[in-house]
Amino acid sequence: MSSQASTSRKVFQPVSTASDGPCSADAIQNLPLPTPPPKDCLPNKYGRIVVIGMEGSANKVGVGIVEYDSEMNTYHILSNPRKTYISPPGHGFLPKPTAIHHQAHIVALVKVALLEAFSKDVVDGELHEDPHNLISAICFTKGPGMGGPLQSVAVCARTLSLLWRRPLVAVNHCVAHIEMGRLATGAPNPVVLYVSGGNTQVLAYSNQRYRIFGETIDIAIGNCLDRFARVIGLSNDPSPGYNIEQMAKIGQSSSRKLIPLPYTVKGMDVSFSGILTRVQELAASIPDQDNSNNKAPTKDSVADVVVGDDIISKEDLCFSLQETIFAMLVEITERAMAHTGQGEVLIVGGVGCNRRLQEMMQIMVEERGGSLSSMDHRYCIDNGAMIGQAGIFALQYGETTKMSDTWCTQRYRTDAVTAIWRAP
Ligand code: MG
Repeated sequence: MSSQASTSRKVFQPVSTASDGPCSADAIQNLPLPTPPPKDCLPNKYGRIVVIGMEGSANKVGVGIVEYDSEMNTYHILSNPRKTYISPPGHGFLPKPTAIHHQAHIVALVKVALLEAFSKDVVDGELHEDPHNLISAICFTKGPGMGGPLQSVAVCARTLSLLWRRPLVAVNHCVAHIEMGRLATGAPNPVVLYVSGGNTQVLAYSNQRYRIFGETIDIAIGNCLDRFARVIGLSNDPSPGYNIEQMAKIGQSSSRKLIPLPYTVKGMDVSFSGILTRVQELAASIPDQDNSNNKAPTKDSVADVVVGDDIISKEDLCFSLQETIFAMLVEITERAMAHTGQGEVLIVGGVGCNRRLQEMMQIMVEERGGSLSSMDHRYCIDNGAMIGQAGIFALQYGETTKMSDTWCTQRYRTDAVTAIWRAP
């Protein structure tokens, strides 16, 4: 029985990962400090507060090191390496292989992050001699996200906490996106549009919470884009959303054909499931010319179908889908600006890298006399430094997480967190 069990045990193959370039820390920015000023909480030997941030709630696993320099009153990102699990074409990333990917890379990422942040001598000497010399706390993503991947990273965080005898700080992933956005762009109190594979929310700060003004009532915008990319056979490398953006650019520059699609804004909320069904139906009626399922988007890949009086292509569909769903987001963001009287907008989350979304938002914000802050892939896309940034704020206001409370949760709303580091 036991020998049968051991021979039938599955040996997992190494899982594929993207060749992510190093996430350099050259965009070090100053953020207006929270008031009242942070406590000198658990400084290291050099009087600085240094935290490790660990993220793995979806298909990215990342480790970032963030430092608070009390002399200069600034936060610095010392390192921020990450790895991305790329699922095969036609498939989304499932919890199990994603968790295995994270387990395979997390330890190496911790080492790389330490070596990038400090010299080898310092890591070999000071850290091994006494971790208190360098590290103040270990921050990790508590949720929301996928269970297995979240747990894989949390286990590593707990292990480091026990090994180094340093406290843990549990972080809400959505709040981390906001805090990283505020740090990287210097926007102190913006209306936030948070758009990613798992989340779509318009938020604004009030009375120590990030209040949700509007959100999706079904699927997230990134999920809508990812699923459509699968239907039209786009690769998941570097991301389905990026490949749709490239196809949409071809559609925009060649035919500029805006196909009418369901536009679903319900008060301050949005819905993407109906529009996804419609574009999937339209895509299914386009004949697959070359029968290839994994082609990079080129002008040659255009295959046409007649809808009504119009001949449309996959590129037209990508263009029309982006224009329609981004217009919905711009509409609810504008309404949140009007309601709060805020002139600043900050876009965060993976879909926030999309240049067309940034462009459309810029037009609206400019017309209102406001300003837009957005980021590139280094800080928009999930990363470890953002968990460190939200964690170091909490730590500086005396918040750490007991070991017994370091469980993860797949559902954890942005407005469930008391932002103790912000003025009431
Ligand atoms: Mg995210």
